[in-house]
Amino acid sequence: MVASPESDPGHRALRDATIAVVAGRPPRAPQAPLNPPVVLSSTYVGIGPPSPGDRVYTRLGTETWDAFEEALARLERALNPALVFASGMAAISATLGLVPPGGTVVVPRHAYHATLVAAREQAARIGGTVREVDIADTPAVIAALRGPRASGNADDGALTRPREPAAMLWVESPTNPLLEVADIPALVGAAKAAGAVVVVDNTFATPLGQRPLALGADVVVHSVSKYLAGHSDVVLGAALTDSAALRERLAAARTTGGAVAGPWEVWLALRGMRTLALRMERAQASAMTLAGRLAAHPAVAEVGYPGLPDHPQHARAVAQMAGFGAVVTLRPTGGRAAADALVSAVRLWVPATSLGGVESMLERRRRLPSEARTVPDDLLRLSVGIEDVEDLWADLAAALDAIPLGRGQA
Ligand SMILES: *Cc1c(COP(=O)(O)O)cnc(C)c1O
Repeated sequence: MVASPESDPGHRALRDATIAVVAGRPPRAPQAPLNPPVVLSSTYVGIGPPSPGDRVYTRLGTETWDAFEEALARLERALNPALVFASGMAAISATLGLVPPGGTVVVPRHAYHATLVAAREQAARIGGTVREVDIADTPAVIAALRGPRASGNADDGALTRPREPAAMLWVESPTNPLLEVADIPALVGAAKAAGAVVVVDNTFATPLGQRPLALGADVVVHSVSKYLAGHSDVVLGAALTDSAALRERLAAARTTGGAVAGPWEVWLALRGMRTLALRMERAQASAMTLAGRLAAHPAVAEVGYPGLPDHPQHARAVAQMAGFGAVVTLRPTGGRAAADALVSAVRLWVPATSLGGVESMLERRRRLPSEARTVPDDLLRLSVGIEDVEDLWADLAAALDAIPLGRGQA
């Protein structure tokens, strides 16, 4: 269990921005350090059989992990401490490992690419199946959870074979990179009815924007490399669950899989998380401003942002999110050439593939051969950072003014 809220009733009602600052500190005592230690030791002195909770060996746990795991759990309002992993993908692979042999996973057709690869590779290994769906299309997801009702041919005498319900529903919301928003409560209900474990990749929303466990999800995963750490200087991941049994399985997968985080990276992530609320507040406000201005620019054909009233799932985002995130997509009127020209023309925005750092970044997603063919060729993904929004806009506007408007637009 997460110790602090129970052992320190004064912390119970704290709000996110405060939790981000205070959670995971060492107990208050005279001469105690304010910050948790970075313990750079692979092993701990031990005599006789270890008692539960004893430090033994760093692959099993360290003081530095504990501090981060408590802080993230309190932000997600999870009943159990988080599990920190060496990367988002390590947390995701361990979580996919909960699927039993022969089991089916329902995944969004647009999602973090390596997640889809990991799901397919695992299915090949365990004789399972991956069903790809439009995660924003609730009836389609529900049908995929139940499984196709395959009708047999007359020769084998079977009119219908039993459906094969899914063992796991993987949700990303908003999705990468199209920012589709899933109806998480509705999908959770359908998944429970089908007996499927629900996992939500909460990287884009952060715990401040969305609390999947409160919406009924079984497991939440994060790429801590993005907003949680927030400074584009570490690669880390995390998984959280309210179920003690699931946490035990994930912890065992971490210990034996060995995809463990270094104490220094985890300390950096906790330090970054102290300013999560401030960073998200600024980045989201700027994303909203920029999305609105971009939508009105003559060189822009389409803007995607869940905070805009014309986003197809705007109402859903309002209902289940406390913030719309800081990723915005745009398609220039001039198509792919204009998108590439824009990336070359910006001076302040950094052309780079990641997101969630203090610095604003942009990328034409289809420059990567791995990106889904259903993502438009000219789509730019913008990760809005915490610079002054007027400087961000001036840089974008100057670049937009300089690119070709495209056929029929001049
Ligand atoms: C980056 C990312 C991941 C992978 O995390 P790593 O820390 O790079 O391993 C998974 N999901 C989403 C949504 C991401 O953006």
